[in-house]
Amino acid sequence: MIIVRLNPEINIKQISRIIRLIENSGFVPHLSKSGRVTQIGVIGDNAGLLNDIHRLSGVAEVVQTREPFKLVSREYRGSDTLVKIGDVIVGGKGVVVMAGPCAVENPVQMLKIARAVRKSGANILRGGAFKPRTSPYSFQGLKEEGLKILARVRNETGLPVVTEVISSSNVALVSKYADVLQIGARNMQNYALLEEVGRTRKPVLLKRGMMSTLEELLMSAEYILSKGNPNVILCERGIRTFEKYTRNTLDISAVPVLKQKTHLPVIVDPSHATGVRAIVPAVSRAAVAAGADGLIIEVHNNPDKALSDGFQSISPLEFARLMKDLKLVCHAIGRSISVGPHT
Ligand code: PEP
Ligand code: MN
Repeated sequence: MIIVRLNPEINIKQISRIIRLIENSGFVPHLSKSGRVTQIGVIGDNAGLLNDIHRLSGVAEVVQTREPFKLVSREYRGSDTLVKIGDVIVGGKGVVVMAGPCAVENPVQMLKIARAVRKSGANILRGGAFKPRTSPYSFQGLKEEGLKILARVRNETGLPVVTEVISSSNVALVSKYADVLQIGARNMQNYALLEEVGRTRKPVLLKRGMMSTLEELLMSAEYILSKGNPNVILCERGIRTFEKYTRNTLDISAVPVLKQKTHLPVIVDPSHATGVRAIVPAVSRAAVAAGADGLIIEVHNNPDKALSDGFQSISPLEFARLMKDLKLVCHAIGRSISVGPHT
């Protein structure tokens, strides 16, 4: 990709001339603003174009990017992307906390947990209606009934909801109810699904595959942005290693590395990263200290009876304590826990 940075005083006529040249050469211009600078990204094998564009008036500089990902790169956009979920903003100064059970089990459970986490300061409610399980005989989620429960609980509590979409044929259905579309670790490279959520404008929570590199994660995000949806949040949720005391190994360095490579917000899932309830608070604090823009934490009112992932779910009381600790960590690094939603 080349990035064409434009002079701040460029006029419309000059911009049109540059765009025309790009289009006539068979490329698609991606116009964007980064701070005060307007720029045009051109993706493809375009070395020839480079020389021609250099000569046009209004062009400040033309740079060739080195990374294989383009629209998600820091080179393309210097300022942080802010993803809006209702009135909650992910990627700004406020650290956003998403909390709730692994799976939606019934309306009473969902409302109870939602009220509890909201009281402790959670900003977004999580809950899976479509569950991608290792065994086909395990609880697969309540599907559309689960989505309806989530929507009702959102209306009751004001908390926007994040829930997983596991197949491209379900994107329209899940979008009808959800505020954020979650792409799970197992689907990080399901390109048809990535393209389908890319065609919506819903915020997408893209989780890192359990055996994926950060570059692969960024390439998956690129699929979504390339279809026109800029509202992507990345999530580090642990990767597979030889270690057995934890379900996965949290790659804490993923946070600063991703923040350096991309303008997209980065959050951490300490629940799937550890698989162990007792470790979740320490890992959550570490993630915020490392610069994560948010957390997604599994909370259950009766973890031992949970239909999925009870072992790694913390209780509402443990969650309340953790939120207090997180406030202190935020204070130490010049951030704060996001407030809201304001409904
Ligand atoms: C989940 O969030 O419940 C989940 C299945 O996560 P992951 O895709 O990271 O395993
Ligand atoms: Mn889970």
